[in-house]
Amino acid sequence: MSELQTVAATLSIEMYVDCPNEECTNYINLLDSSDTDGYDHNDDSHLLRQMFPKNRDHADFKCDDVTCSVCKTTFNVRELEW
Ligand SMILES: [Zn+2]
Repeated sequence: MSELQTVAATLSIEMYVDCPNEECTNYINLLDSSDTDGYDHNDDSHLLRQMFPKNRDHADFKCDDVTCSVCKTTFNVRELEW
């Protein structure tokens, strides 16, 4: 009988929000600065640390002053749905 192969896993994380501008509806990845007008909202792992909150409540998730690359609308994000 041959041995099972072992491979490495790759973690890929995306956090999406819909642009609140109804005429835009751009689908924005908060972890991709090219979607957020060049600003890195995950500086110092600000967003990824909130994936595992101490009180296990994603209602506390927040990301402020996000600017849509397409229409330049700026908005806040509250809550993280899994
Ligand atoms: Zn937009």
